[in-house]
Amino acid sequence: MPAPAHGRGGRKQRSRRPRTTDQVEVGMAEAEAHSIVIVGGGICGLATALALHRYHDVWQQGDRTSREKVPVRTELRCLNRKDMIEALAKDIPAGMIRFGCRIAAIDADPSSHGAVLTMADGTTMKAKVLIGCEGTYSVVAKYLGLSPVRTIPRAVLRGFTWFPHGHSFENEFLRLRVGDFFIGRLTITDNLVHFFITMPKPPTADVSTKDLKKVRDVALKEMQDVECPAEIIDIVRDSDPESLNFVTEFWYRPPWEVIFGSFQKGTVTVAGDAMHAMGPFIGQGGSAGLEDAVVLARSLARAVEDADGAGKDAPASAREKMIGKAIGEYIRERRPRVALLSLESFIMGALLVRSPSPVAKLACVAVLILLGSKSLRHAYYDCGRL
Ligand SMILES: Cc1cc2nc3c(=O)[nH]c(=O)nc-3n(C[C@H](O)[C@H](O)[C@H](O)COP(=O)(O)OP(=O)(O)OC[C@H]3O[C@@H](n4cnc5c(N)ncnc54)[C@H](O)[C@@H]3O)c2cc1C
Repeated sequence: MPAPAHGRGGRKQRSRRPRTTDQVEVGMAEAEAHSIVIVGGGICGLATALALHRYHDVWQQGDRTSREKVPVRTELRCLNRKDMIEALAKDIPAGMIRFGCRIAAIDADPSSHGAVLTMADGTTMKAKVLIGCEGTYSVVAKYLGLSPVRTIPRAVLRGFTWFPHGHSFENEFLRLRVGDFFIGRLTITDNLVHFFITMPKPPTADVSTKDLKKVRDVALKEMQDVECPAEIIDIVRDSDPESLNFVTEFWYRPPWEVIFGSFQKGTVTVAGDAMHAMGPFIGQGGSAGLEDAVVLARSLARAVEDADGAGKDAPASAREKMIGKAIGEYIRERRPRVALLSLESFIMGALLVRSPSPVAKLACVAVLILLGSKSLRHAYYDCGRL
């Protein structure tokens, strides 16, 4: 996704002009060249593109059964992913998003601090700044030398239930453990409720995991067997079949890799799950990707401002250095935050999935208390404004 970026003097431009696409030579073939390329059009990629675009505009102008309710303070909101993706995408100018463009490989660009991207169809593209937002199996993360993400087998069924006459639930995040099920319920509007069910084991082999209604039936039967509260059973049974989503494994980057991993090479970096995949255990992966987008756009914007201040005769290498420095600042700002989230999610996952020894369990609980997990402290984070 070629993203908005300033050319020389771009900050002082008054009119919004489409990005230009130069043609430059790469070996024998001609490759497109862009100032900033964002790979991946998920939550983080779209948010980063929009954040950079907006900046442009601004310049121009317990036990086996436990139940806990976390009341929603201030601004904790549950959003439907589809709505968010649409909201982010709709404000990105047409032509800036390129569909069906799968990046197969990335190589260093010998003529700059950026990179040369090779698409699955063999075409190439040069990026002065490259931001990898392509999620867990990020090609950019591999280029940066990061290890592949790890997986945990665990089945989760998610969905939405519509209450035509309104529901009676408080605006709260209900977390419920019944037997080996871990269930979450969040209200989205007065009529719409989101739920997730982490199942102890995926449905048996004779149930296709693509047949979501069947998966739901199996889950309902097992939930009834462990005497799950009727209000939860009703929500799952009445869910919209079209809204159901089922995954059988989670991806994560261990917290120590988030703490020590290299997230930068010249003007190439990563954001979102490409940087810090953390599984769904604390429901913060997507939110952290949005924060990355804000911080990265802010840092890059500062660098472009400095580069513009250096004058249009400043050598390209000086501009690249400033951008590289800004990416370093972005990583320094984000690392402590995403490291703590990754640690919290990792510990939650260990408690839920791995059945640790009593001593390990005690240590895990102690760390979670320190991190304020129970009060959802992780969600009350201010990454600042664009
Ligand atoms: C069961 C479950 C529940 C979750 N619940 C929550 C929650 O409640 N709250 C929350 O904040 N987070 C939650 N998460 C985490 C959240 O889904 C992720 O953190 C988030 O989707 C990551 O966004 P992203 O944009 O970084 O990556 P992705 O959403 O993975 O998007 C990556 C994009 O890049 C594209 N892509 C991939 N490879 C390439 C390539 N080679 N070339 C070009 N494009 C490529 C993909 O097609 C995709 O469009 C949950 C995750 C799971 C699995």
